[in-house]
Amino acid sequence: MISLSRIIPRLAVVLCILPVGLAGCKASGKEAAPAASQPPFMSAVASAPPQTPDDALPPEKTGGFDGRRAFAHVAKQVSFGPRPSGSPAIAKLQEYIQSELSSYGCKLEADDFHADTPIGRLPMKNIVAKIPGEKPGVIVLATHYDTARSARDPRTGEVHPMPTFVGADDGGSSTGVMLELARLLCAKRGPYTVWITFFDGEEAVHDWSDVDSRYGSRQMAARLSTSGDLKKIKAFLLADIVGGRKAQFLRESSSTPALVDLIWDTSAKLGYSAIFLNDSSSAEDDHDSFLKRGVPSVDVIGDFLNNGYWHTPQDALDKISPKVLAITGHVFLESVKQLQAK
Ligand SMILES: [Zn+2]
Repeated sequence: MISLSRIIPRLAVVLCILPVGLAGCKASGKEAAPAASQPPFMSAVASAPPQTPDDALPPEKTGGFDGRRAFAHVAKQVSFGPRPSGSPAIAKLQEYIQSELSSYGCKLEADDFHADTPIGRLPMKNIVAKIPGEKPGVIVLATHYDTARSARDPRTGEVHPMPTFVGADDGGSSTGVMLELARLLCAKRGPYTVWITFFDGEEAVHDWSDVDSRYGSRQMAARLSTSGDLKKIKAFLLADIVGGRKAQFLRESSSTPALVDLIWDTSAKLGYSAIFLNDSSSAEDDHDSFLKRGVPSVDVIGDFLNNGYWHTPQDALDKISPKVLAITGHVFLESVKQLQAK
């Protein structure tokens, strides 16, 4: 996890140091906004009033993407409770994702596999909605839908279980966005094939490392490498932690520059530069499984180190904004359109 490329000096800060050794899905060095005034990791943040779907942008302003529908998907996921890989709750979510995708007319593929983890062999499942195109080449959109079962306390350095963690933003938000994108994209074909992918097992089972994290994306990338299909992927666009009321997105520095530019140029054109900032950060995430195999990839990830609730029980539905979900969805929709035109 970790990383730490801070490209813009103005916010050097503590965040560059703390991430080392932190548990959880990923960490970054970032240089976001007023970091100095932000609470440290894991600190409790006063809860804001619960969001209602009322603040969603109307779909006609976001390319048809309905932030209220995406929000409802997040609420549904949270209602299942904590959803770590192999749990009964994640099985319910798998059913929900597949049922929703089927209802949109998506063609589905599921890969059931077992992963060797620090707590033993766990059943996992990747789910992919496949929208066929005519030209050779595949555009992949992706999210993870599992939630973290443990986190490292930065004060003590100890890894502790999180039995009440529901991952509204971390796991829930991007999955809600991808379901709503599937509703729109499965209804129409483009020149290129699109795969909307729902990964299991992004989170570490115990403590983040190359072998304890990204189980689902590593599985899919390995399978596609073996089959020869990996080289068909022209772009891999990942979303993670994309629904926070105060979300800000930073350019993820390990991502493929041309795809980062695509996302950021698109967001600027759509008027979202207040959320998609030009500062950089780095994060380890599911895109790494594809980047390491040479696939052009980008991670669109909220500034989780500064949100005050990342990998804490406070990552609950009250943190989620239908409006931010809609903005993320709009940017993805328009970016796919750009890729389809190339
Ligand atoms: Zn996480």
